Amino acid sequence: MHEYSIVASLIDRVQQEATAYEGARVHRLYVKIGELAGVEIDLLKTAFDTFRERTICDEAELTINTVAPIWACPSCERSVERGSILRCDSCGRPAKMTQGDEIILERIEMEAPDV
Ligand SMILES: [Zn+2]
Repeated sequence: MHEYSIVASLIDRVQQEATAYEGARVHRLYVKIGELAGVEIDLLKTAFDTFRERTICDEAELTINTVAPIWACPSCERSVERGSILRCDSCGRPAKMTQGDEIILERIEMEAPDV
């Protein structure tokens, strides 16, 4: 399942970050997901709950922030309304999505033991 591979790579990233801090405990992950990223948020949460066991994210919570899609003209940078024809109304070029399809690990909340 798509969501499982996303979770796997998120946890990989966290693992990499956390290796710098011996014995670090991860409390929370903040993930930004575009509404058009093709991710089922509920499935992602389920995948995370299943997958985190016996990883560094064992006790971590997952916070997901969704991002509404925005389109803009690639040449004159005018924004193009959602729902309308996705084409710039001043120069006629097809609009490009500037946000709304991302999957980003924004922040990791963790606690490192005192050195
Ligand atoms: Zn334009």
